[in-house]
Amino acid sequence: MLNKLVIANPVTQTRDAVQQLIAYFNHGQQPEEMPSFYRLDGEMVLVLNNKKDAYYVTTPKTCSCPASVYNPGKPCKHSRKYFPQPKKSREELEAEGEAILEAHHNTAKRLARPPEDIRASLPGWPEGAHGPVEAI
Ligand SMILES: [Zn+2]
Repeated sequence: MLNKLVIANPVTQTRDAVQQLIAYFNHGQQPEEMPSFYRLDGEMVLVLNNKKDAYYVTTPKTCSCPASVYNPGKPCKHSRKYFPQPKKSREELEAEGEAILEAHHNTAKRLARPPEDIRASLPGWPEGAHGPVEAI
């Protein structure tokens, strides 16, 4: 299918080709007007060019626009716009935040041991004494 062709060979598509593609995904219905972009899936977006006569094929790492051709390996404005690339996903960040909270919670629990335990562990502490605080 056309979709497979686009994915295997990310080159700028004509407006007509994209219109057909959208119609294909749209159960044969032609779009009323051509959108400024059309997301094929999570990894590929068709982006209408400035002249509005063709669509660039944009993925997170590649794009068929001229800027991308002149700067190979660098994500162009289309890649950056349609595929914001945070270092970590939202889920990963949330999981990390929870792990930190959990660690804090455990530390607090350890510190909140009753004082009797500490006194009992000190050698030579007089039985029944309340410590030097009372002597002042
Ligand atoms: Zn581009």
